[in-house]
Amino acid sequence: MKKKPVIGVLALQGCVDRHRPHIEAAGGEFRAVKTAADFDAVDAFILPGGESTTMLKLIDVFGLWEPLVRNFAKKPVWGICAGSILMADKVYVDAAKTLAQKSFGLLPITIVRNGYGRQLDSHTAEVDGFEVSFIRAPVFEAVANDVNVRAVHGGKPAWVAKGPYMASAFHPELTMNYPSPMHRAFVEMAKAA
Ligand code: GLN
Repeated sequence: MKKKPVIGVLALQGCVDRHRPHIEAAGGEFRAVKTAADFDAVDAFILPGGESTTMLKLIDVFGLWEPLVRNFAKKPVWGICAGSILMADKVYVDAAKTLAQKSFGLLPITIVRNGYGRQLDSHTAEVDGFEVSFIRAPVFEAVANDVNVRAVHGGKPAWVAKGPYMASAFHPELTMNYPSPMHRAFVEMAKAA
């Protein structure tokens, strides 16, 4: 049991710093990470919201795919929105479900990018009594039977977990109530790992 796990937030692109107060309030240490050496030095990862295609490009350009795979194999990971897209084992780029997008395949879930609609369909909602944001959010279209569905939104799973991996379609870090129930749950997972 780790007293104060170091939570590395992948800092290539997207919403990184807003996680700091939530992680600290939940009893963890925040660290923005972007190199293989950074990855090796943290206890768990948050893959933040942002733009999954941009993150994939940067992971490729900086040669980070292999170091991430190696670290994800032994540490808890929480993907938020774009981050959840990187974690899914099946990703459709849009509602037409034509092309698949590359991903780390950590969770047996099928995701449709921008499945709730485009920018104008972005909205806030209450999940677990906490206000969260759906921003060009993915829809978790299907989840395997052994995936634990922790919250549902619009009839679809929106917060899921399996073993050391967790994903949310929404951003819980944008409000100023610290910590969010999801950060609390994730820091507890990192402590127990
Ligand atoms: N639509 C974005 C993507 O496909 C995700 C949006 C977000 O992370 N808020 O990567």
